[in-house]
Amino acid sequence: RVVVGTKVDQNHVNWVTAYNMLTGLRFTVSRTNAKIDRELTDADFYAKHKFSFDITGNELTPSAKYDFKFKDYAPWVFRHLRSIFQLDPADYLVSLTSKYILSELGSPGKSGSFFYFSRDYKYIIKTIHHAEHKFLRKILKQYYDHVRANPNTLLSQFYGLHRVKIPYGRKIHFVVMNNLFPPHRDIHRTFDLKGSTIGRDFKEEELEKNPRATLKDLNWLRRNLHLEFGPTKKHAFVEQMQRDVALLQKLKIMDYSLLVGIHDLERGNEENLRDKTLQVFQPGGNKADEQAHPNMLMRTPSKLENARKARELRQLIKNERPVPMDQTLDRMPDFMAEPNKKNFYFYSDDGGFRATHEDDTLGEEIYYLGIIDCLTHYSFIKRFEHFWKGLSAPESQISAVPPERYGDRFIKFIAGITKTRERAEYEKEHPEVL
Ligand code: ATP
Ligand code: CA
Ligand code: CA
Repeated sequence: RVVVGTKVDQNHVNWVTAYNMLTGLRFTVSRTNAKIDRELTDADFYAKHKFSFDITGNELTPSAKYDFKFKDYAPWVFRHLRSIFQLDPADYLVSLTSKYILSELGSPGKSGSFFYFSRDYKYIIKTIHHAEHKFLRKILKQYYDHVRANPNTLLSQFYGLHRVKIPYGRKIHFVVMNNLFPPHRDIHRTFDLKGSTIGRDFKEEELEKNPRATLKDLNWLRRNLHLEFGPTKKHAFVEQMQRDVALLQKLKIMDYSLLVGIHDLERGNEENLRDKTLQVFQPGGNKADEQAHPNMLMRTPSKLENARKARELRQLIKNERPVPMDQTLDRMPDFMAEPNKKNFYFYSDDGGFRATHEDDTLGEEIYYLGIIDCLTHYSFIKRFEHFWKGLSAPESQISAVPPERYGDRFIKFIAGITKTRERAEYEKEHPEVL
């Protein structure tokens, strides 16, 4: 859980990039938020704005530590998306522009993307390939319409799309999205499920070295696990997944997965980080908490200090003034607060979706889940993979089948593993019902 990645500070190789990302975000988000809300127009979906930052600053952009260029894509669309997902504008700014990002997860996937967590662990910045960037812009209208019609979507929630570039450096595209996993609960097991078997096995031996590793389809099947939802929740879950996957199929997207984090309520937070957190972050407390809470590495501002900073920030937004770059936006992390997702069905049980039994009474796990990595268009390398893997393996076992079949197989697999313990046992005794 909290112990992921490496802290990005001045000594980190990606410090300048991370700093520029945050500076650009702080400026562009407060710039858009400062304006009076309005309806979207078609042009908003294709809009892009370019800003140059340098150490002196100019009438448009305030001075920054480094020279860099920043592009903001479809800012009004993302402002509306953030509002559909019920993010508080000031909260979003504070989370993403605190003094430094919590941590970097250097390329957990094969794609070469980098992941950064906001310091309060609510948001993820993912660097994306240029092709994914172009693709997201192309489908933004359909994504937006889908989210509006399906506020309970399981798809990744995109909050912003940007590009940063330092002189002579390469262009780095990135999205800001929701972290599916909660800051305040241990995730005891993580799975990334696609519904295929080839290459979908995490070597069990490696688990000892890396107990937090993300496991895959075959590991799931080997453990005979289920997404334990009784009839009511299963119905809602499968139906929403079908709607989301229908969009992905229509847009010819594939290679996405269902990310599942399991919190076992009986084990609870066995690492006791939560209790430590409670001690360290006592309101008004200003202990040197780097020692007490090494993974968070943050100074605890007092409640008053937080309130003052939040007020200042709101004022700056209201006055349409850019937030000064070096203003420290430390704030009490909302570890103890309920995640602000109560209104979203699949995230309403303490940020996740709690297991239920056959009679719909509550179960012992909370699942944190969503469909991730959904910006890979079929044409993007996959045709090639289909070609060469297809020579040796039956199609049901390869991951790169065309989008229609990819989606059907995905739904079939996930719906198939969505059942209560009771139901699974019953089916074992009565194979004829299957
Ligand atoms: P590849 O294309 O090789 O699969 P990628 O670089 O596109 O990898 P993703 O598949 O998006 O990366 O994510 C890699 C891992 O990062 C996931 O398995 C998960 O552990 C973590 N991750 C990604 N998105 C989220 C999210 N929204 N919330 C929490 N964890 C996430
Ligand atoms: Ca992936
Ligand atoms: Ca990917």
